[in-house]
Amino acid sequence: FERTFIAIKPDGVQRGLIAEIISRFERKGYKLVAIKLVIPTNDFAQKHYHDLKERPFFSGLCDFLSSGPVLAMVWEGEGVIKYGRKLIGATDPQKSEPGTIRGDLAVVVGRNIIHGSDGPETAEEEISLWFSPNELI
Ligand code: ATP
Ligand code: MG
Repeated sequence: FERTFIAIKPDGVQRGLIAEIISRFERKGYKLVAIKLVIPTNDFAQKHYHDLKERPFFSGLCDFLSSGPVLAMVWEGEGVIKYGRKLIGATDPQKSEPGTIRGDLAVVVGRNIIHGSDGPETAEEEISLWFSPNELI
């Protein structure tokens, strides 16, 4: 089965949305295979978002990701990379459909509470950036 990297960003953790978000993935039928709470360094956040380093919001984004605890997870199941993104909703919560995590729980793009890998290569890259093999079930 395929695996994806999902992270609840500092705003989602701070707002007490961990249980709500995990519950949506569990109820769908996906399997949690790794989980930990971490405060990433700014350098680590820059590695995670390296694809976006030319964007004007990059430094603010990395400052934000490293501003507090992040709940890092790996979820497994058929189609989990693509369907996980569907559960999450569009990047900008103003454009996310109701029923999605961002659509139901977030308002602005800079505080969109959750991250999900956008494809098989980034999923593999992000899982190995955030977790060592012995942390995966
Ligand atoms: P993520 O990678 O966090 O799952 P995404 O794949 O939906 O989100 P990306 O294009 O990868 O969107 O952008 C990464 C993150 O950068 C977004 O989740 C958002 O927090 C932030 N971001 C994207 N666009 C903007 C913007 N225009 N202004 C501020 N922040 C932005
Ligand atoms: Mg992305």
